[in-house]
Amino acid sequence: MNILLIGPPGVGKGTQATNIVDKYELTYVTTGNLLRKEAKSSSELGKQISNIISNGDLVPDAIVEKLIKNEVNKAQKGILFDGYPRNIVQVNTLQNMLMQSDRILDVVINMSLNDEDLIKRISGRYVCASCSAVYNKYFVKPKINGICDYCASSNFITRADDNEDVIRRRLEIFHNENDAIVNYYRSRGVLVDIDCDGSVNEISNKISTVIDSLQVEI
Ligand code: AMP
Repeated sequence: MNILLIGPPGVGKGTQATNIVDKYELTYVTTGNLLRKEAKSSSELGKQISNIISNGDLVPDAIVEKLIKNEVNKAQKGILFDGYPRNIVQVNTLQNMLMQSDRILDVVINMSLNDEDLIKRISGRYVCASCSAVYNKYFVKPKINGICDYCASSNFITRADDNEDVIRRRLEIFHNENDAIVNYYRSRGVLVDIDCDGSVNEISNKISTVIDSLQVEI
């Protein structure tokens, strides 16, 4: 089973992805985390990526393609994609990549929420510096205060691109590119819309219902 999560920054893709990969035993492939890891290196490429992410712009397709291809080739199980594709060029690249590895996308989950709520969600977000698990000071805190639920680290950070100016830039890019992506997958009959105005559990239940109905059909 291969699943793609699409939706604006802050809609909760990372939070839901963590639940989905555990529950359905999938490999998690997320370009945001791959790029942030690359950005930490002191290489020229690392610095270039770091600057682009800090401004809220998209990293050039060729760089992202190389990173994601590596992950797809390595994956032994079904894949949950998050953060890729971000434009129609990447949609086509992903289709080719999947074909070459004998995979198909079983479902594309289109998560949506209005911009003002997205900005509020992102402004409360912080992540585990060690495993990148996503938390939110308003909505999803660790079960034990100050300790990551997944890796027990006590080191948390706020992403440099989670400030209001950069968030608005990221949303602008998202709105410019997203219609073409949604139209593409809708026309192929694999897109399911999920309204994300609700609690993490409510949204998680909606997504599970979609995935479970898919398993029944397989
Ligand atoms: P995310 O964690 O998905 O919000 O991604 C954080 C940042 O990484 C984005 O704002 C982009 O700068 C970069 N990024 C992530 N995925 C992609 C992608 N598929 N193509 C280009 N840039 C990306």
